[in-house]
Amino acid sequence: MRAMRLTAWGQGPVLTEVERPAPHGVEVLVRVEAVGLCHSDLHVVDSTPGALPYRLPFTLGHEVAGHVAELGPDAGGLAPGDRVVIYGPWGCGECSRCAAGRDNYCDRRGGLDRHGVGLGQDGGMAEYVLVPSARHLVPIGDLPAEQAAPLSDAGLTSYHAIAGLRHTLGDPASTAVVIGVGGLGHLAVQILRATTPGRVLAVDIREDALDLAHRSGAHFTTPVRDDTAHVLRTRTGGVGVDAVLDFVGNGATLDLAAALLRPGGELALVGSGGGRLTVCKPGALPPGARLSLPFWGTRPELAEVVALARSGALHVETEQFPLSEAPEAFARLRRGEVRGRVVLVPE
Ligand code: NAD
Ligand code: ZN
Ligand code: ZN
Repeated sequence: MRAMRLTAWGQGPVLTEVERPAPHGVEVLVRVEAVGLCHSDLHVVDSTPGALPYRLPFTLGHEVAGHVAELGPDAGGLAPGDRVVIYGPWGCGECSRCAAGRDNYCDRRGGLDRHGVGLGQDGGMAEYVLVPSARHLVPIGDLPAEQAAPLSDAGLTSYHAIAGLRHTLGDPASTAVVIGVGGLGHLAVQILRATTPGRVLAVDIREDALDLAHRSGAHFTTPVRDDTAHVLRTRTGGVGVDAVLDFVGNGATLDLAAALLRPGGELALVGSGGGRLTVCKPGALPPGARLSLPFWGTRPELAEVVALARSGALHVETEQFPLSEAPEAFARLRRGEVRGRVVLVPE
């Protein structure tokens, strides 16, 4: 079968032929119907040797939807043909976090040489993907695969980050700012609108991303300029915002986030842009500020995101490519030309 594989650090992934895997024990073989391309895939591809604990080669793709093709002899709970999305962060499977479906915060993560599907072990940019256990599969019913796949990271990560902010966004007068309205950010805007009562403001460097923010339900959007912090604070009557979700995470966006927060406000840093924020008292952050570093999400939350999408509250903006055009899709994402999420569809 064809697969998009990372074969050497610092070089682009390549489309190659690999053998179709067979499920053993409790493993489940999933026929891939759609797989999302995440900005994190670029971070992985661009990593220097030794920066990540992964062994090469492996197949990329950590946002995967499809149907059960074959069950290992000891696998249960699902039947061939069942349509599923893959819960991607695979932990040790034994610690208390993993037992609760919180593999994203596995206690043994630091000692693992893989972090989940398509992250150090073969992922979904292929015709089939082997899943270690049915516990990583969430049913999607009749949800289209290109809608379901991005829910497993872009949707889930946004949902998990917002869940951590919910205590500060319960008031209709509260304000949240989304920085970076790409694959994750446009779903964050929709999830905020669907699950919190307050106002949603969005910022991006691209006009078409701001259009997408509007269509996703943002009350106000503005491009990044020198006076962006002032423009946004004005929208809050000058007091500052209750929560900032930073889906970029470079030095400029972290500075913007710090300048926007009101006292007691909260910053969720999601983007892996490598920027730094100095934390000290007194400092750039206002008194009472809180900072979170959410990573992916939990399995129960993935089921909630799928339910939200099936209720009609979420719509993923997608650009679809056949798997054979994965190299061009990677290039488009790198050039910042993607609107919403790129989804690859195996032929
Ligand atoms: P994306 O490329 O689809 O979207 C990024 C958006 O940010 C684009 O619209 C881009 O125009 C905008 N942007 C870039 N620079 C900006 C700036 N200086 N100010 C404002 N907007 C700017 O990326 P994505 O797939 O949505 O991923 C976003 C980030 O989140 C990446 O860094 C990715 O690695 C990270 N990520 C983190 C997790 C996690 O669990 N913490 C999970 C998935 C992705
Ligand atoms: Zn991702
Ligand atoms: Zn664990």
